[in-house]
Amino acid sequence: MDKALFYFDKETTFPCRCGLTHHIPTRRTLLGDGVMEEIPTVLRDLGMGKRILLLWDENTYQSGGKTLEGMLSRTGFHTIPGMIHRQKRFRHLEPDEEARSQAGRLLQEKPDCILAVGSGVLNDLAKFIAHRAGLPYSVLATAPSMDGYSSPGAPMLVGGYKITFDATPPIAIFMDLEILAHAPLRLIQSGFADLVGKTTANADWTLRHLLFDEHECAYTWELVRDALIILEKNAERVRKRDEEAIFALSVALLNSGFSMTITGDSRPASGAEHLIAHYLEIMSLHRDWDPSLHGLRVGAATALVSTLYDYFLSLLPSFKWERLHNLGPTENTLEEVALHFGPLYPYIEKATRKKIAQPHIPDKRTENETFLTTLETAIRAKLSPLPDPSLTLTRCGAPTTFGEMGFSLQTVRDALRYSRYVRARFTILDLLDQAGLLNDAIEYAMERNRTKNTV
Ligand SMILES: [Zn+2]
Ligand SMILES: [Zn+2]
Repeated sequence: MDKALFYFDKETTFPCRCGLTHHIPTRRTLLGDGVMEEIPTVLRDLGMGKRILLLWDENTYQSGGKTLEGMLSRTGFHTIPGMIHRQKRFRHLEPDEEARSQAGRLLQEKPDCILAVGSGVLNDLAKFIAHRAGLPYSVLATAPSMDGYSSPGAPMLVGGYKITFDATPPIAIFMDLEILAHAPLRLIQSGFADLVGKTTANADWTLRHLLFDEHECAYTWELVRDALIILEKNAERVRKRDEEAIFALSVALLNSGFSMTITGDSRPASGAEHLIAHYLEIMSLHRDWDPSLHGLRVGAATALVSTLYDYFLSLLPSFKWERLHNLGPTENTLEEVALHFGPLYPYIEKATRKKIAQPHIPDKRTENETFLTTLETAIRAKLSPLPDPSLTLTRCGAPTTFGEMGFSLQTVRDALRYSRYVRARFTILDLLDQAGLLNDAIEYAMERNRTKNTV
């Protein structure tokens, strides 16, 4: 694997063949052995100042924070330790009002910059408060568990509902292989499973591009696709924490994260599979269930969504496109959605209304046979790096079904039916719904996945 990927050594701006100019504000990305020792020099080179607020929790303090604190103190930095405690009402640390106020109070110590020691929530909290305080931030990754290190969004819980806020990406990302390879296996598998979802996320993007002319960048796809191909070859080795495979996994997560930085939103990394995962997370937090890990939910959702794509592609020759010019969600649906989400509905109402008002396929392009061939080829290309997501997940030891995470069949069915209303973004779920096929497709996908995973 090429260790000198273009974004590793500097902030960069480049004209892309998609017609846009892309920008990556992260100035240094370090991945490899001995990265921890390089942190003081890099922080000094980047002019991050002397007073560093270190954000960690009990686990990440042990898995890297303690060593980092000692090293920074010895090299002349003033460290401000910032322990974030898990809320009693949650199973995992969540980025809610209480966590934000714990982190926010530490700003009274007047740090020059913030350094997160963690993976999901600690990175998001640091990104969120740094952005609001106008401070630079960087992150020492403690697990290859997700692709949000470099992304421009910070998901936060507000009133029990998760909303992604705009935030400034990190100035520097430090990924020390020794730390990453010793992360809990479930977190490693979660990062792997999150990446499995990039196939359907990009298939959804292609769908929007071809049906609604949404801008699409082929370059971000190449970035993700190349990483997925290497990852697919390394699935078993990731499970065994083989250092080279953990390196490949980390590069793939970085590539996916930077694909979001490049487009400025989550389009290259998030489609129907993320909507389903998101739905199950908000419902779990609301009902006091264990939501499991982000990536694991995304992986199991990808197995279902890729089957929905199989269903759609098998029907393509006889697909009733004319229904998409006429039919669409109705006001009745709005009432049904409000009833389903209950007290959570006010948080999604804006997205739901936007989705319902979405224009249907605007012209007669779907009557053209060449167009349909192009559509099929483009979608298959996006799904092709991981032709069987269930098998890929199994090889890495990650769950392939939601049942393994404790979700009931009814909850999964609801997730497939209602998750598309939590966000206005059009996906395969909307296409099937507008064609009047969603319920049949859901039953097909659930049955296929059940038989596949029991035989
Ligand atoms: Zn994700
Ligand atoms: Zn581009």
